[in-house]
Amino acid sequence: MIPQTKIEEILNAAHIEEVVGDYVRLKRRGANFSGLCPFHNEKTPSFSVSPAKGIYKCFGCGKAGNAVNFIMDHDNLSYIESLKYLAERYRIEWPQQENVNIDFERAVKSEKESLQILNNWAADYFEKQLWESEEGLNIGVSYMEERGFRTDIIKKFKLGYSMESWDHFYKEATTNQFNQDLLVKSGLVKHNEQDRTYDAYRGRVMFAIHGSNGKIIAFAGRQLKKDDKSAKYVNSPETLLYHKSNELYGLFFAKNSIRQHDFVYLVEGYTDVISMHQAGVENVVASSGTSLTENQIKLIKRQTDNVTILYDGDAAGIKASLRGIDMLLEQGLNVKVLLFPDGDDPDSYSKKVGSAAFNIYLETESRDFILFKVKLLLKDAKGDPLKKAQVTRDIVESISKIPDGIKRMAFLRECAVLLDMNEQLLITELNRSRKGFLTQKEKEWISTEPNEIPYEEEVLRLTAGENNFTQEQYLVKLLLLHGDKPVEGYTNVAHFILHKMNEDELKFDHEIMNLLVEEFRMLITQQTTFTTQTFTQHTNTIVSSAAAGLLSVQHEVSSRWATKYDVIMDHPDDVFMNDINSALLYLNKVTVEKLLAEAELEVMKAQEKKDESAETVYQEIHMLLKAKQQEMSHKTGTVILH
Ligand code: ZN
Repeated sequence: MIPQTKIEEILNAAHIEEVVGDYVRLKRRGANFSGLCPFHNEKTPSFSVSPAKGIYKCFGCGKAGNAVNFIMDHDNLSYIESLKYLAERYRIEWPQQENVNIDFERAVKSEKESLQILNNWAADYFEKQLWESEEGLNIGVSYMEERGFRTDIIKKFKLGYSMESWDHFYKEATTNQFNQDLLVKSGLVKHNEQDRTYDAYRGRVMFAIHGSNGKIIAFAGRQLKKDDKSAKYVNSPETLLYHKSNELYGLFFAKNSIRQHDFVYLVEGYTDVISMHQAGVENVVASSGTSLTENQIKLIKRQTDNVTILYDGDAAGIKASLRGIDMLLEQGLNVKVLLFPDGDDPDSYSKKVGSAAFNIYLETESRDFILFKVKLLLKDAKGDPLKKAQVTRDIVESISKIPDGIKRMAFLRECAVLLDMNEQLLITELNRSRKGFLTQKEKEWISTEPNEIPYEEEVLRLTAGENNFTQEQYLVKLLLLHGDKPVEGYTNVAHFILHKMNEDELKFDHEIMNLLVEEFRMLITQQTTFTTQTFTQHTNTIVSSAAAGLLSVQHEVSSRWATKYDVIMDHPDDVFMNDINSALLYLNKVTVEKLLAEAELEVMKAQEKKDESAETVYQEIHMLLKAKQQEMSHKTGTVILH
């Protein structure tokens, strides 16, 4: 655990405009700075940094937070890693760990660090063999030239060569003080039963594998001899630095471009990534042969929601991978596919047609995955009703994986046309598919109203009522701005608001806003004093980034208004208490409306079942609620929506 005081020390030292300024060109605008958002593609700046509050917010894509949030998001680092980065940047001493696991942690840490040093050295060694040894030039470089790789690209990806020798690497490494144990752990060297130690890579082209932070975490060696019976590629084993299923080849070099274009190309192999860079396409990553893992999908999701999968033209291969794509849909990603002509992959095709034509092909030939799948499977099912039924089930299952209800419906409609089938039939099939992962509430909806209202429409109706979110945000914003101010009869304003919320049983729908309210509740119960910084610098990054988002103002208030505002602030009972009361009243109104709708539904159900006593009860509740609603509408007058 990093002590809270240390976190505060780091956050106080880290000037947000400097931390962001390392990555974004910022221009001063009044008290704030603005620039082009590094998280989405834009031409006019909507990214704002407030040095006074220590926070940033993009009014385009909504990203917001403090200095730690920024580094986490921008460099894909963990909370602790980001703190450490800031500590290093501001020369703040990083605390020594003081727990019982200290030796173990130190050992793990030092093994990790040693592996990193070894990998860096090995990458340099392989690179040197490629460019400086006769064997490397004759075999390695000429192979790369044959593949058409340019020198600048070979150097960018740090390609190298391992000598056709039993232990050339091992000897060099030992001379450089790397011990055998570490060398074996890294997978660069092997040790056999005859107690002999030898190089794991011999006579191969070496691909350095960069982690998402740009450090070399592993290697892959490709065989060059045609008669070689060993594996075409040999990869590093799992080490403390390298977990194959958590990495995407090329991600480090792709990040900026993915952000700019807001989508990523997914290819199969190392050479596909390299060839695409050479063709000027940099938003590309490879899963390195294996099917995508959940962690790899998460890595993608941190950068963009849009994926285009590039396929070589082999139909059997495509069909085999269709299932895996459902995983991407399930995570809410928008998936497109692009097919290369028979026998070509991105590598061979880009070389065949040249960069310009290749780029045009990428831009024009992408197809939406679901529609692509329909067409692909329909080809096989021509005229065969049984096969067509199977295709339909298959497609509907893919659609059922899409979490967004509106998107699901749109696809369903399009597929109904393509499949030449009744839309209602597909909806029934979809409901059956989705039942597996419905929430309890959703299940109830389906079971109480069998087939009367299609499930999809019901979901649309339910989600339509979610606009209280802005009101909830508004109330939390008031809590953040005024929560610590005094108010008669209560500890402070926050206490007042929470007390009122309790009294009227007001609950928030939105999970994150709820989290912030709970945080206030805890502070009040513990009688801890707090300021807005307690929230913007919170160690829970969900809290800090939500607070930063709520506290950012899009337009600078002119100084004339600021003075006026200050005047008003002298009378705390005046303006903001009005805002708070009307926000509470609004939430109250919404809650009553919800209860009214529920009561109405119960009355209808009771009437259907001819349950007269239940009907009377709910009628009565309904009347009481109606009266409360009327009483409130007198109070409300005008409620300003912010
Ligand atoms: Zn943005």
